[in-house]
Amino acid sequence: MRIGIFSDVHSNLEALVAVLSFFREKEVQWLLCCGDVVGYGPNPEKCIELVRISRAKVVAGNHDWAVAGRIGIGSFNSIAAQAVRWTQTRLKEQEISYLRNLPLTEDVGPFHLVHSAPSSPSLWEYITTLEDAEEEMGSFIADICFIGHTHIPFAVERISGRQARIITGSSFELRPDAKYLINVGSVGQPRNGDPRACCLVIDWDERRAEFHRLKYDFTITQKKITTAGLPAFLAERLATGT
Ligand code: ZN
Repeated sequence: MRIGIFSDVHSNLEALVAVLSFFREKEVQWLLCCGDVVGYGPNPEKCIELVRISRAKVVAGNHDWAVAGRIGIGSFNSIAAQAVRWTQTRLKEQEISYLRNLPLTEDVGPFHLVHSAPSSPSLWEYITTLEDAEEEMGSFIADICFIGHTHIPFAVERISGRQARIITGSSFELRPDAKYLINVGSVGQPRNGDPRACCLVIDWDERRAEFHRLKYDFTITQKKITTAGLPAFLAERLATGT
């Protein structure tokens, strides 16, 4: 069985279509999404629709709940806050209600799903270092915890009795005697210097995970951002993945 995991779509329809098509090609059976379906990008309504149709299990990101009015935008920078307000004007009550009802966490078989830190999902903290990840390892009981939020793919493995380590390389074995914390990167606004849409595919029978980077035509998204009157920086960063 194959599982496709993705996060931080951020209303980028072109990147989302690339990832969902890739999952279809790979004959992925389960789809899991670590939140931030909306925010920043120009197609919130279409992205919500496609994610719903995909039947992915989805948890809430801070942008999803901010757009839904479930959390304030006091901690958002001015560009993010501007995009939240713009997104609110684009969505119908039914779409707002979908975002409002997204849960903070989900458990699907051996997988735990959360947008930010599993120890405190409602605080929207960023896990950026091995030390951060190691501290979080005790806060979920599942074999594998998938997260998003930083837009930077990152996998940490802790074999029982040993110290946690960062996994290098895009393809890796999932050992039955280990726990994993995996940031699946961002579909719609990557920030690690690679502009391609990021996602993860797990082959559960083979116990292998692989990060994938998918090219899409970000110039279409950039034009839509400009036409929508969203901040220019949101268009520019799609070209550099920063
Ligand atoms: Zn995000």
